[in-house]
Amino acid sequence: MTIRKFPLHEKALTLSKDFRRLENELIAVLQEIEAQRIFLELGFSSMFKYATEALGLSEANAYAFIAVARKAKRIPLLQKSLDEASVSVSKVKHILAVLEPENSGDWIHKAKTLSKAEIEKQVASLSPKMKKREKVQYVRETALRMHLEVNEVVYQKLKRVQEISASKNLEETLEALVDVYLKTKDPIEKAKRIQKKSAAAPGSYGPGGSDQNKGHRQPPARVLTKVQVIKLKMTLPRNKVFGRKAIPAKAKHEVFRRDGGSCQYKGPSGRICGERKLVQIHHLEPLWQGGDHAIDNLLSLCHPHHDYFHREDRKYRPSKLLST
Ligand SMILES: [Zn+2]
Ligand SMILES: [Zn+2]
Repeated sequence: MTIRKFPLHEKALTLSKDFRRLENELIAVLQEIEAQRIFLELGFSSMFKYATEALGLSEANAYAFIAVARKAKRIPLLQKSLDEASVSVSKVKHILAVLEPENSGDWIHKAKTLSKAEIEKQVASLSPKMKKREKVQYVRETALRMHLEVNEVVYQKLKRVQEISASKNLEETLEALVDVYLKTKDPIEKAKRIQKKSAAAPGSYGPGGSDQNKGHRQPPARVLTKVQVIKLKMTLPRNKVFGRKAIPAKAKHEVFRRDGGSCQYKGPSGRICGERKLVQIHHLEPLWQGGDHAIDNLLSLCHPHHDYFHREDRKYRPSKLLST
């Protein structure tokens, strides 16, 4: 009697082994990209944006790969198991919440041997308070469903806003809330309001001023001698002149309007970051080197890029940022 062969099954086995090996190789590469901050240089404000936009991973996969890559840096046994391809990312991602160096042997063994459902059950019994991830998905063309967990205090506050705003439901309440917030806190809205006000007043800058400045952000050709710089530093209090707060409100508003409130960092391929979270204003020519608060010397950068720029000051000069 001959044993029946299943060539397709053999092929599937080989491919799934390759698949796991490739996944784990991707983890290793992602770790290096994060360590060397290559994603920032390419124009992405986070690893997540890089993984979804540049690599085309789904949001769920990007989240899992990055989380596993970071955890493996902290837990040698996880790193070893990934390197050997003895565990898969899809299994490991379920134990991340409970995985620590001291229990890693136990949990990684479970990830290797138990089913996904069994792993999830055991993890949940250990950390019942674990927060569910927020989720936003389209349910119709124009409507999204949001799943989020809030604590009781936030919920009570939300109900209070609902009373004050006489909103019919939570959606209306949320809308009332964000409208008020954006009206008072959004720097772009603020800049627009101030522009309107000053356009009404004669002798002030009007619309179009920002367009003239566009693509024309060369640092001023003002060079201070060392002595002058030292003198400036001595005579003017640091927090007043050299600090962030020293940028005049008018210049700040103009920059926010010109840059649309988004990070203008440009990667080598020409990709502009565009992040709108935690946007800060950067001086192309630093104040201590004679730069000033002129619009042409100011640029919006997200916090990760601003931080990167200053840390890598040596190899990252404004000329590189501006080069096309
Ligand atoms: Zn800066
Ligand atoms: Zn950025």
